[in-house]
Amino acid sequence: MNSLSNLARLRDFVQSFAAMLERKPGEQEILTEGGALLAGLISQDDWLPAAYAQADSQRYQQYLLYADALERFSVVSFVWGPGQSTPIHDHTVWGLIGVLRGAEIGQPYGQVDGQWRPQGPSHELLAGQVEAVSPRIGDVHRVFNARQDQTSISIHVYGANIGAVQRSVYLEDGTRKPFVSGYSNQTLPNFWDRSAELNAQLRAAAP
Ligand code: FE
Repeated sequence: MNSLSNLARLRDFVQSFAAMLERKPGEQEILTEGGALLAGLISQDDWLPAAYAQADSQRYQQYLLYADALERFSVVSFVWGPGQSTPIHDHTVWGLIGVLRGAEIGQPYGQVDGQWRPQGPSHELLAGQVEAVSPRIGDVHRVFNARQDQTSISIHVYGANIGAVQRSVYLEDGTRKPFVSGYSNQTLPNFWDRSAELNAQLRAAAP
């Protein structure tokens, strides 16, 4: 299969996710069922177009892959250059994180006397593994590329158009800085333009 038809994996994932949300499940159900859907998506690393897998030498990249028409969810590829990391931050909505390539380290944070401190041990998430965040189960963390010598990529799903959500970055001393992350890519992919894929199929089928 060529990479264009492999993109159907993302389309199938988005459709399955939207169909699940149509049932108006509770958060735990979303995290469980959605986590299984995300695990399926990241079980094969052959569908993410190269343009959405490019690391930047200065900072980690957040490429919007899909935003639901009703902003019920969004799908983002996070691309970590060697050794790159986030600040301490929150999400304010549920989120699912699945590692597609390489590995990342998550460190939850909790507030102690107004200061943010690591809460529990950090954990390494390997390719194929999924974890969840939310205000209910723990929403503040810091994430690192576990690899010092290679790019790592994770696929994130959030319960909103995450690039447009007003949220916060924290310093250990308790300082809060409001932020809106935006996206690293300027435009949406031609998600519904399947002509390249369909024409390739027509050419392959031609006698
Ligand atoms: Fe995060």
